[in-house]
Amino acid sequence: MTKLIVGNWKMNGDQCLLAELDTINLAAQKAPDIEIAICPPFTLIAIAVSLSDDILIGAQDVHHMGKGPYTGDISAPMLRNVGARLAIVGHSERRTNHGETDALVRAKAEAAIAHGLQAIVCVGETMIERAAGQHIDVVTEQLRESCPENPDVDKLVIAYEPLWAIGSGRSASPGDANEMYAAIRRVLIERFGTKGGSIRILYGGSIKAESTASLFASANIDGMLVGGASLSASGFVPIIEAASLA
Ligand code: PEP
Repeated sequence: MTKLIVGNWKMNGDQCLLAELDTINLAAQKAPDIEIAICPPFTLIAIAVSLSDDILIGAQDVHHMGKGPYTGDISAPMLRNVGARLAIVGHSERRTNHGETDALVRAKAEAAIAHGLQAIVCVGETMIERAAGQHIDVVTEQLRESCPENPDVDKLVIAYEPLWAIGSGRSASPGDANEMYAAIRRVLIERFGTKGGSIRILYGGSIKAESTASLFASANIDGMLVGGASLSASGFVPIIEAASLA
């Protein structure tokens, strides 16, 4: 499976930050076997596309409808029109801060895929759920409910992002990641048959170069979703390099 490393800039960055793409492009050229993507804020997508020969540019969210009276929203056809290639859906910050439900996340993923974008569907448990031993049930239920009905599976990616690892400086251990990877893979195969075996499962949560190396060495993951460390080439390029050595 081709590894996928995605940077999520969240609500950070102005046009100055796009200068980081030069160095990230160079790193991507040196790692042709890996897909590298950056998801900047909506305002920077078009210009980021024009600056990125070797990086895919994506969005951090997408509306579930193609067009209409949805003030402030951005649709999948609009994203395609400016050259975006993927969209993150159901990030925990969207689920928590905007009350996004599994059903809405599923509709967003369906819209993204129907319009030719790769949809990265995020799932993950809280620390309270993990401490109560409910993490596998919580995440597999979220996954069953958030996955699109009949997707082009080549365009579906799952990101396992435990909420307690996001921005906390604390990554999941390879053992925790492997346990969840196996549970997610089981659901994908149950749902999509053998095709479920080829859907990429990313890990996200406080990733740095060192955790990339140890997770790729001992956990069964197919890539990374990176927040804070993707905001500079000096943080993101070592992750790409560690992934290409793994
Ligand atoms: C994220 O929010 O998707 C994420 C992984 O953030 P960070 O790498 O900063 O923990």
